[in-house]
Amino acid sequence: MALAAPLTLSSSEISSQEERDLRIIVQKFGGTSVSTPERRQLVGDRVAQALQEGYAPCVVVSAMGRAGDPYATDTFIQMAAGIYPDTHPREMDMLIGCGELISAVLVCNTLKARAIPSMAFTGGQAGIVTDANFGKAQILRVNPEHLLRHLREGNVAVVAGFQGWTEAGDIATLGRGGSDTTAAALGAALRAEVVEIYTDVDGIKTADPRIVPEAQTLSVTTYDEIVEMAHQGAKVIHPRAVEIAMRRNLPLRVKSTFDDSPGTLITYSIETTLGMTEKMNGRVITGITHLPRMAQLRVLPGGKSEADMDLRLFRALADVDVDVDLVNVSPQQKSFIVPEGLGEKAARTIESLGFQVQVNKGCAKVSIIGSGMRGVPGVMASMVEALHQAGVSILQTADSHVTISCLVRQEDMEAAVRALHAKFGLDRGAAADD
Ligand code: ADP
Ligand code: MG
Repeated sequence: MALAAPLTLSSSEISSQEERDLRIIVQKFGGTSVSTPERRQLVGDRVAQALQEGYAPCVVVSAMGRAGDPYATDTFIQMAAGIYPDTHPREMDMLIGCGELISAVLVCNTLKARAIPSMAFTGGQAGIVTDANFGKAQILRVNPEHLLRHLREGNVAVVAGFQGWTEAGDIATLGRGGSDTTAAALGAALRAEVVEIYTDVDGIKTADPRIVPEAQTLSVTTYDEIVEMAHQGAKVIHPRAVEIAMRRNLPLRVKSTFDDSPGTLITYSIETTLGMTEKMNGRVITGITHLPRMAQLRVLPGGKSEADMDLRLFRALADVDVDVDLVNVSPQQKSFIVPEGLGEKAARTIESLGFQVQVNKGCAKVSIIGSGMRGVPGVMASMVEALHQAGVSILQTADSHVTISCLVRQEDMEAAVRALHAKFGLDRGAAADD
């Protein structure tokens, strides 16, 4: 995994006096929540409610809809590639950042039509400064003065998610799920009381409900677990957003735009959150995640020395921006996985060093995650049993203190997720508070 750059805040960060005067809430709305005029009215309801509760809302929006919709991010990507496939990342970011600008203006107008004073901002206007890594930029700092001035004057700020400006003034986008990161970074810079992530599901669930319809909604969970679930494929929230919130102890709440259920509260430590201990007790596994379309690579020295392979292999992959995962190292062989789309590039790089490589496409990684598994014996055994009973072969495994991952064939992925969900009692709501 790439190391995240530190997020620094400017010295003009909101003072604690202002914090007491101005109770800021960040409310982020995903693509499906802003896709139609009717849905934008629901956004308006959420903002109106926050205002009624005495908050100064800072709203962050994603581009409207999903792939195929006219102003969705994927649509812009196809639009550019259709004319000139090698669009430079800088220009690509100018184009794909438009979706959020459109949403910001429309949501701003929706609020104004309800007599709620509001102003729309690009990411850059909102003070988000990024590095120049176009397409996957990192936020370097946030200068919140401009937003604060308007919030203090009683405006709702509606900020285009997913983007900022580089120091040179170019538009740079933050990568998939980047609006979550915008919301958390603004929440930290504005010292918001809470960041609400509104989406099309009613919180973080024990598995992706598209694969496990009976997945339960977690009522409360820790930053640690959700960072891990997000890294391992639970795309309901971006891991970077959770990391930023964790550093500031900023509460995050993931909830549905479409119903009034309380959603999932992500907080620091369950033990220190009053009244939560009981609900979380006995939870060994919190969730099951999956990462589809991975390629497994097996590398052999091919006549070169093993030490040479150790030294050069991973450095060379890092130099061409290939992130490796599920790394198994033995003296004779190194195996690891990369996203399928990077399989060819990785293989070419390895061959250019003179090593032998086998590429096994069509794999998926399934993981079980839970801070409760620490020190509990037999979790790996249960995982292997569940997969075996479901007829799923395990190609490779890896574990850390809160996660065990297995590489399986892509066609077995959904069966594997369902089998693990059942095996660890998540279907019965053992992990949920209901
Ligand atoms: P948004 O556009 O609002 O950011 P996303 O599509 O990024 O929405 O995230 C919401 C989707 O995440 C859900 O529709 C769901 O299918 C998927 N998802 C994957 N894993 C989980 C999980 N563990 N809990 C909830 N949703 C999940
Ligand atoms: Mg998202």
